[in-house]
Amino acid sequence: MGTSRKDFLKITGVAGLSAAGLGIVTVGCSQKSETVEGIPEKDWHSDPDWQRIKYGDWGGPGVPSGPGPMDHVLLKDHAPKSSVVAQETFIEQAKFPVIDVHIHNYAESANEISPEEALANWVDDMDEVGVELSVVHTGEVGEDFDRVVDFYLTDYPDRFQLYCGILADGIDQQDYPERAVRELENCYEMGARGIGEITDKGFGITRDPELSPDERLHPNDDRLVPLWSKAAELSMPVNLHIADHPSAWQAPDVFQERTPIYQQFNQHESDGLHYGELLDLLPLTLQKNPDTTFIACHLANLGNDLGRLSDLLDQHSNLFVDISARDYEIGRTPRAAKEFFTAYKERVLFGTDMGMQKSMYQAWWRLLESADEHMPGRVWWRYYGTDLTDEVLEPLYRGNAMRLMNWEPV
Ligand SMILES: [Zn+2]
Repeated sequence: MGTSRKDFLKITGVAGLSAAGLGIVTVGCSQKSETVEGIPEKDWHSDPDWQRIKYGDWGGPGVPSGPGPMDHVLLKDHAPKSSVVAQETFIEQAKFPVIDVHIHNYAESANEISPEEALANWVDDMDEVGVELSVVHTGEVGEDFDRVVDFYLTDYPDRFQLYCGILADGIDQQDYPERAVRELENCYEMGARGIGEITDKGFGITRDPELSPDERLHPNDDRLVPLWSKAAELSMPVNLHIADHPSAWQAPDVFQERTPIYQQFNQHESDGLHYGELLDLLPLTLQKNPDTTFIACHLANLGNDLGRLSDLLDQHSNLFVDISARDYEIGRTPRAAKEFFTAYKERVLFGTDMGMQKSMYQAWWRLLESADEHMPGRVWWRYYGTDLTDEVLEPLYRGNAMRLMNWEPV
């Protein structure tokens, strides 16, 4: 058994990865460890840090963990079935009409059916689950943007709003700021009512790993000031994705918070800016462009530290957040999340960013409206319902978007 497991590691190249987590391979039915070639052995089980993180302050499993058939279960395959018998609330339709401020052009990438059919089905499902309107972050400019506008707004002008991207060509040229502003004006004319999703995961907004650090275009760059100020003038919010979930910069070793499902996003040891450095760009951007409304998506990637996010919201009145794709942060700390949603009920917007399945929307309603416990979640963690009050739900679902966004008809 031991040999084949070792061979597997070699074949897939896993053995070349970070030494920290892979130095030890538990083999067959003996609990002894083997060293993968080139990786120093580490006995994690006697590491006090490992003990504390794995078992908590108490510091021990209570029963000796002996060898057995589960030694063959891989972390990526582990899907524990809970025996908890608890309340399961099905909420077909959201309690208030919903504006989903964060989706992408899913209809055009649908499999098996035509884009038109996918779009029509989607609108039917939106009706069923109670989504009044969705904001499509196209990230496009020029003719690509115009085409997406046609696709969504010809038949459904009241069901979708479109955000454009920003010009990414020639960012090193002197006339870049001026050209970027002109392109934004064109997009507004064509129907853009916001900008997004603008993403910086460490290599700047153009996501070009070839650029040297001083050439990269981060959101706080002076070259973008005219663009952000034009956005303010046109009442176009800017949806900003800064950094990523913090686990993306954690080493892919035994302490990695997420399962291997997320490892494709891992940027540990990347040459770009790291989590902390990226997060520091957010207040700089907000400060430099005080008239522009920024919606930091995914809870600003601070869903793991709502105290720090609260401080940012206190310090910058032009900052708003959407909760898209952070169901797992809300669900794992439901009491803190409820407190946060309540305290900042005028600053938080609902978004999904998770495709167009009906069950996806309904899982959100359950998370936000019910008090259900121990629900299976998307990323390993169990969720707990936040049981939000009507006073918090209504602005989250719709009120804030109505107040904040540009509803000028196209
Ligand atoms: Zn997105």
